[in-house]
Amino acid sequence: ATPTAVMVATGIGANHGVLVKGGDALERAQNVNYVIFDKTGTLTQGKAVVTTAKVFSGMDLGDFLTLVASAEASSEHPLAKAVLEYAFHFHFFGKLPSSKDGIEQRKEQILSQWLLEAEDFSAVPGKGVQCLINDKTVLIGNRALMNENGVSVPPEAESFLVDLELNAKTGILVAYDSSFVGLMGIADPLKREAAVVVEGLKKMGIHPVMLTGDNWRTAQAVAKEVGIEDVRAEVMPAGKADVVRSLQKDGSIVAMVGDGINDSPALAAADVGMAIGGGTDIAIEAADYVLVRNNLEDVITAIDLSRKTFNRIR
Ligand code: ADP
Ligand code: MG
Repeated sequence: ATPTAVMVATGIGANHGVLVKGGDALERAQNVNYVIFDKTGTLTQGKAVVTTAKVFSGMDLGDFLTLVASAEASSEHPLAKAVLEYAFHFHFFGKLPSSKDGIEQRKEQILSQWLLEAEDFSAVPGKGVQCLINDKTVLIGNRALMNENGVSVPPEAESFLVDLELNAKTGILVAYDSSFVGLMGIADPLKREAAVVVEGLKKMGIHPVMLTGDNWRTAQAVAKEVGIEDVRAEVMPAGKADVVRSLQKDGSIVAMVGDGINDSPALAAADVGMAIGGGTDIAIEAADYVLVRNNLEDVITAIDLSRKTFNRIR
């Protein structure tokens, strides 16, 4: 394609909210064989909602929610926001002035007065969070986090968790002072266009893949809903880039679509990295494309644009 054609295509893309960083990326997109989608925040809305909270020790439910919210207050993960929202409504529903605006504005102030102090907070990538509350260790996250800290999950909690996962929900486990306390189930609905886009890619001869740090059962339930057969689950952040490289081994051209800090190594490793607008800055920096509208249809728009720009000239 001539420089003019590339410039025109770049302009057309921009008008549709598809920002491409340079002619090379624009050219590579036409030949994509695989599109790998991150799950949380990419295929799903990233607007997680707590659907269940269940205590399996003697702890009071309100105390449990306070504990969890206090630990998650320092996390930027979409799951953490859902937990805080749930705890807030549990404690304050009916006790606040009726004006919703007032509540939204005062929320942080109210939360900060009521949360417990969490010390030594750290995010454990792909697993959860850890901190100290009242000098006791709090762990919140998946099975791997519990296992590596020697926390055993009782059988009745495990079967409750499996049930959640089979229903496409992510379960998060909570331990306090080395003992399992309870769990929460979190739903994160698919973006409304997700299934149509997956179908569209298949019709274009492109193989869709789902890549996630979440557990196998949840991943497979979500994949089934969206129509993706090729699932890679329980992948640690560093492993996401390895998945990209393994698909590239036979010369295949791989696109990666993601939104999180966790996705940036994979976005950089991909032949075509596409960051979801509204995603993390680091992801946007690592990507070749930014899909500003946060709409997965633009994955197809980007590939189409490349095909039209470069086929016409040959
Ligand atoms: P994804 O690849 O789907 O975006 P992540 O790698 O961010 O997933 O997280 C993997 C898993 O680690 C989550 O499904 C969850 O079980 C756990 N996890 C991560 N961060 C948190 C958190 N702040 N609170 C609870 N659990 C978490
Ligand atoms: Mg994500």
